[in-house]
Amino acid sequence: MSQFEMICHKAGLKVTPQRRQIYQMLTEAKDHPSAEVLFQRVRGVFPNISLDTVNRTLLTLAQVGAAFVVEGSGDVKRFDGGLSPHQHFKCIKCRRIIDFHYEPFDNIEVPDEVKGRFTVFRKTVYFEGMCKECGESA
Ligand SMILES: [Zn+2]
Ligand SMILES: [Zn+2]
Repeated sequence: MSQFEMICHKAGLKVTPQRRQIYQMLTEAKDHPSAEVLFQRVRGVFPNISLDTVNRTLLTLAQVGAAFVVEGSGDVKRFDGGLSPHQHFKCIKCRRIIDFHYEPFDNIEVPDEVKGRFTVFRKTVYFEGMCKECGESA
Protein backbone atom coordinates (compact mmCIF):
# COMPACT_ATOMS: atom_id res chain seq x y z
CA MET A 1 0.00 0.00 0.00
CA SER A 2 1.30 3.44 -0.87
CA GLN A 3 1.56 6.15 1.74
CA PHE A 4 -1.40 7.85 0.11
CA GLU A 5 -3.56 4.75 0.28
CA MET A 6 -2.61 4.29 3.89
CA ILE A 7 -3.61 7.84 4.79
CA CYS A 8 -6.92 7.49 2.94
CA HIS A 9 -7.60 4.15 4.52
CA LYS A 10 -7.00 5.52 7.99
CA ALA A 11 -9.27 8.49 7.33
CA GLY A 12 -12.00 6.32 5.82
CA LEU A 13 -11.57 8.04 2.49
CA LYS A 14 -12.10 6.27 -0.82
CA VAL A 15 -9.11 6.22 -3.14
CA THR A 16 -10.61 7.43 -6.42
CA PRO A 17 -8.53 7.81 -9.60
CA GLN A 18 -9.10 11.58 -9.42
CA ARG A 19 -7.91 11.82 -5.84
CA ARG A 20 -4.88 9.74 -6.62
CA GLN A 21 -4.05 11.91 -9.63
CA ILE A 22 -4.48 15.16 -7.75
CA TYR A 23 -2.34 13.87 -4.92
CA GLN A 24 0.34 12.65 -7.29
CA MET A 25 0.47 15.91 -9.22
CA LEU A 26 0.62 17.86 -6.01
CA THR A 27 3.52 15.86 -4.61
CA GLU A 28 5.37 16.23 -7.91
CA ALA A 29 4.77 19.97 -8.08
CA LYS A 30 7.60 22.06 -6.78
CA ASP A 31 5.74 25.34 -6.89
CA HIS A 32 3.11 24.89 -4.18
CA PRO A 33 0.25 25.37 -6.61
CA SER A 34 -3.11 26.92 -5.89
CA ALA A 35 -6.24 24.89 -6.67
CA GLU A 36 -6.61 26.85 -9.90
CA VAL A 37 -3.07 26.07 -11.07
CA LEU A 38 -3.37 22.40 -10.19
CA PHE A 39 -6.76 22.27 -11.87
CA GLN A 40 -5.13 23.31 -15.17
CA ARG A 41 -2.69 20.41 -14.85
CA VAL A 42 -5.20 17.78 -13.74
CA ARG A 43 -7.43 18.75 -16.63
CA GLY A 44 -4.80 17.34 -18.94
CA VAL A 45 -5.57 13.90 -17.52
CA PHE A 46 -9.23 14.28 -16.54
CA PRO A 47 -10.70 16.76 -19.05
CA ASN A 48 -14.10 16.72 -17.35
CA ILE A 49 -12.93 17.49 -13.85
CA SER A 50 -14.15 20.78 -12.37
CA LEU A 51 -12.21 23.37 -10.44
CA ASP A 52 -14.61 22.80 -7.58
CA THR A 53 -13.72 19.11 -7.44
CA VAL A 54 -10.01 19.87 -7.43
CA ASN A 55 -10.50 22.48 -4.75
CA ARG A 56 -12.57 20.18 -2.56
CA THR A 57 -10.15 17.31 -3.05
CA LEU A 58 -7.22 19.47 -2.00
CA LEU A 59 -9.03 20.59 1.12
CA THR A 60 -9.92 16.99 1.91
CA LEU A 61 -6.32 15.90 1.41
CA ALA A 62 -5.22 18.68 3.73
CA GLN A 63 -7.76 17.57 6.29
CA VAL A 64 -6.51 14.00 6.39
CA GLY A 65 -2.85 15.01 6.40
CA ALA A 66 -1.97 13.98 2.84
CA ALA A 67 -1.28 17.58 1.91
CA PHE A 68 -0.82 20.91 3.59
CA VAL A 69 -2.06 24.39 3.09
CA VAL A 70 0.95 26.66 3.03
CA GLU A 71 0.65 29.31 5.67
CA GLY A 72 0.53 32.99 4.84
CA SER A 73 -2.45 35.25 4.57
CA GLY A 74 -4.24 37.37 2.06
CA ASP A 75 -3.68 35.21 -1.01
CA VAL A 76 -5.48 32.25 -2.46
CA LYS A 77 -4.64 29.03 -0.66
CA ARG A 78 -1.50 27.30 -1.85
CA PHE A 79 -1.02 23.59 -1.37
CA ASP A 80 1.95 21.42 -0.61
CA GLY A 81 2.22 17.68 -0.97
CA GLY A 82 5.73 17.56 0.41
CA LEU A 83 5.30 15.56 3.56
CA SER A 84 8.92 15.44 4.61
CA PRO A 85 9.81 18.13 7.12
CA HIS A 86 10.68 21.43 5.52
CA GLN A 87 10.09 25.13 5.88
CA HIS A 88 8.92 27.83 3.52
CA PHE A 89 10.10 31.13 2.27
CA LYS A 90 7.61 33.19 0.37
CA CYS A 91 8.48 36.10 -1.86
CA ILE A 92 5.81 38.76 -1.40
CA LYS A 93 6.46 40.12 -4.88
CA CYS A 94 6.53 37.16 -7.26
CA ARG A 95 4.61 34.94 -4.79
CA ARG A 96 7.01 32.07 -5.23
CA ILE A 97 7.09 29.69 -2.30
CA ILE A 98 10.47 28.12 -1.85
CA ASP A 99 11.23 25.08 0.27
CA PHE A 100 14.17 24.97 2.56
CA HIS A 101 15.11 22.63 5.30
CA TYR A 102 16.82 23.67 8.48
CA GLU A 103 16.79 20.83 10.94
CA PRO A 104 16.55 22.78 14.19
CA PHE A 105 13.22 24.14 12.91
CA ASP A 106 11.75 20.63 12.79
CA ASN A 107 11.61 20.44 16.54
CA ILE A 108 10.61 23.85 17.75
CA GLU A 109 9.57 23.70 21.34
CA VAL A 110 5.96 24.32 22.24
CA PRO A 111 5.78 26.92 25.02
CA ASP A 112 4.00 25.82 28.21
CA GLU A 113 1.44 28.54 27.73
CA VAL A 114 0.37 26.93 24.46
CA LYS A 115 0.74 23.38 25.70
CA GLY A 116 -1.71 24.02 28.52
CA ARG A 117 -4.39 25.36 26.22
CA PHE A 118 -4.06 23.54 22.91
CA THR A 119 -3.16 20.26 21.34
CA VAL A 120 -0.57 20.98 18.69
CA PHE A 121 -0.76 18.88 15.53
CA ARG A 122 1.72 20.71 13.40
CA LYS A 123 4.34 23.37 13.83
CA THR A 124 5.75 25.28 10.92
CA VAL A 125 8.29 27.96 10.27
CA TYR A 126 7.39 30.43 7.58
CA PHE A 127 9.51 33.25 6.25
CA GLU A 128 8.26 36.06 4.12
CA GLY A 129 10.34 38.53 2.19
CA MET A 130 11.74 39.17 -1.21
CA CYS A 131 13.71 36.77 -3.35
CA LYS A 132 16.96 37.81 -4.92
CA GLU A 133 15.52 38.19 -8.40
CA CYS A 134 12.75 40.49 -7.19
CA GLY A 135 15.04 42.45 -4.93
CA GLU A 136 17.38 43.17 -7.79
CA SER A 137 14.70 44.31 -10.19
CA ALA A 138 13.15 46.62 -7.57
ZN1 LIG B 1 10.40 37.09 -5.98
ZN1 LIG C 1 6.86 23.06 0.66
